[in-house]
Amino acid sequence: ILEVEHIKKKFGKTDVLKDISFSLEQGEVLSIIGSSGSGKTTLLRCLNFLEMPDNGVIRVKDEILLDTDKPETLKESEVRKKRLHFGLVFQSFNLFPQYTALQNVMLARELLAKERPDFKVNKKNILDEIRVQAEELLRQMGLEERMNNYPHQLSGGQCQRVAIARALALQPDILCFDEPTSALDPELTGEVLKVLRNLADKKTTMIIVTHEMAFAKDVASQVIFMDDGYILEQGRPDQVFDNPKMERTKQFLSSYS
Ligand code: ATP
Repeated sequence: ILEVEHIKKKFGKTDVLKDISFSLEQGEVLSIIGSSGSGKTTLLRCLNFLEMPDNGVIRVKDEILLDTDKPETLKESEVRKKRLHFGLVFQSFNLFPQYTALQNVMLARELLAKERPDFKVNKKNILDEIRVQAEELLRQMGLEERMNNYPHQLSGGQCQRVAIARALALQPDILCFDEPTSALDPELTGEVLKVLRNLADKKTTMIIVTHEMAFAKDVASQVIFMDDGYILEQGRPDQVFDNPKMERTKQFLSSYS
């Protein structure tokens, strides 16, 4: 479903992504691990076109979203549409504070209805339909009692589950998480990880940047260890966690045990 080839990104003189290539099948969960500053967030931001890579190719379902050798794929005006292939959940939730949980999810759904002509809703009842769909997503996140609360009335874990419902409302091909639990205390971390586990069981294609090693090992079908802008090691969780080839990977993993 996703192919990434030779992605490079510099900020000023700093090479943050040096040559990143990987691919992902439909229904796979990719965990990206690595030390602070290794480029994990920048990679997710490049995939979501929040940063423009300096070099490389990104293909989703065989559609070329970016090919730095093909200027027609670099048009700024197309970026919003391309972004819809990816849902992004940030560590800091990024909900609109002035809107309720339900309104936050409905806004995403309205955006989808505007941007995607193939998104089927009855134009006459569009707001009713969008509301019903948003309510269903919040219900799936276990938030039926919280739909009309504002973000400040919700716990961090609940906010994060609203953010996940909002990302799902955009029906992305690939759902990306940037350290979804790092702003949460351990009790709330568990409830968010449970939601991610459910999504994985439903074969949602996901990329999860995380420092939760046990979770990464348990939920992922593929793991990438990043170091200093490179993918240093890549494989199934048992290969990367139990049998790392590189000394650097062993060293990194031992800092968690
Ligand atoms: P963490 O686990 O701490 O989130 P990370 O692996 O996600 O780290 P990135 O956030 O991708 O790492 O950052 C990689 C490097 O790129 C860092 O040295 C950071 O300072 C630098 N960097 C990231 N964004 C920018 C930017 N917009 N301008 C300049 N430098 C940046």
